[in-house]
Amino acid sequence: MNTMKQTLAICLALVLGLMIGCGKKETNNYKTAQDKIFGTSYSIIYESAIDLSEDIKACLNEFDNSLSVFNENSIISKINRNEDVETDTYFETMFAEAQSISELSQGAFDITVAPLVNLWGFGFQNKGEVTQDKIDSLLPITNFLGVTLNIEDHHVYKRDERIMLDASALAKGYACDIVAQRLADKGCVNYLVEIGGEIVAHGLNADGEKWKIGITKPIDDPTGSVNEYEDVIRTGDIKMATSGNYRNYYIEKGGQRRSHTIDPRTGYPVQHKLLSATIVSSSCMRSDALATTCMVMGEDEALEFIENLEDAECYLIIADGDQLKVVTSRGWVQNFEN
Ligand code: ADP
Ligand code: MG
Repeated sequence: MNTMKQTLAICLALVLGLMIGCGKKETNNYKTAQDKIFGTSYSIIYESAIDLSEDIKACLNEFDNSLSVFNENSIISKINRNEDVETDTYFETMFAEAQSISELSQGAFDITVAPLVNLWGFGFQNKGEVTQDKIDSLLPITNFLGVTLNIEDHHVYKRDERIMLDASALAKGYACDIVAQRLADKGCVNYLVEIGGEIVAHGLNADGEKWKIGITKPIDDPTGSVNEYEDVIRTGDIKMATSGNYRNYYIEKGGQRRSHTIDPRTGYPVQHKLLSATIVSSSCMRSDALATTCMVMGEDEALEFIENLEDAECYLIIADGDQLKVVTSRGWVQNFEN
């Protein structure tokens, strides 16, 4: 894993701040599991009489072996190297969701963006010199329609063998869903799963209250060390993800800012007034993919896109001169107690 990605991932882990009630009850069974996975960190709180940290770790390792492009033995890495490999359920579920969001967004979201992500220095291969010629050569292989999955033989087929996949835009959200499901299977009702800033929360915190979740103010912060909240929501059931361009970026010599969200249609990192997009929807994987999609689209298109989806709501933070402006979809306020 390259150091840049590690640094970026640590930043990403801080995209959302969690504010968990303090003053724990004397007799509760709330436990915490914290560690690192796919170049980011996770923090999981759950109520259970038994320690489930090893189950959580095992679950995340299985997931990593399928979908992490930073693990060279993973299924997705083997597919990227055109090795003969059978897909598993994690891969197949991710692929179906990714392709569905690509269709819905008409290619704003696209997991074949990997070669461009690498070229711009945000991927699993070292950054090269970015030239228009290189971008032009990668655009024809950046197209979700160029890759298909056969669920009969569990194989991925590519129109061009240079096509590579990057599940980073929805993997953390998906991992939250998987861990939450594992906890529920073990009988947990009260839990908060946070992986690299994406969140699934259910039930109550250790104080017997709904979970409090902060939406981080998008302040320019490449170190990821500043955490101020734009808003706090209280919830007993949420699958939420945030994408932002205020931490994961670099400044080129000429002063040009380059963010990690790439528009697959132009081959360039996006530049919008939209600083962060927080999405809640029916799964954290979907929220994660939709949050990235919003960042590609920019503020106006993103709002319209989310308003047209029945199962998703958005909270967009937009630069307005030197102020921040919040725009939410119509269903956002009704969904939560603030
Ligand atoms: P974060 O990692 O901050 O949660 P995202 O969920 O938006 O952010 O994921 C960003 C990552 O998604 C990028 O680093 C890149 O690997 C990948 N990516 C960038 N642009 C796109 C795109 N248009 N479609 C799909 N994936 C993308
Ligand atoms: Mg995402």
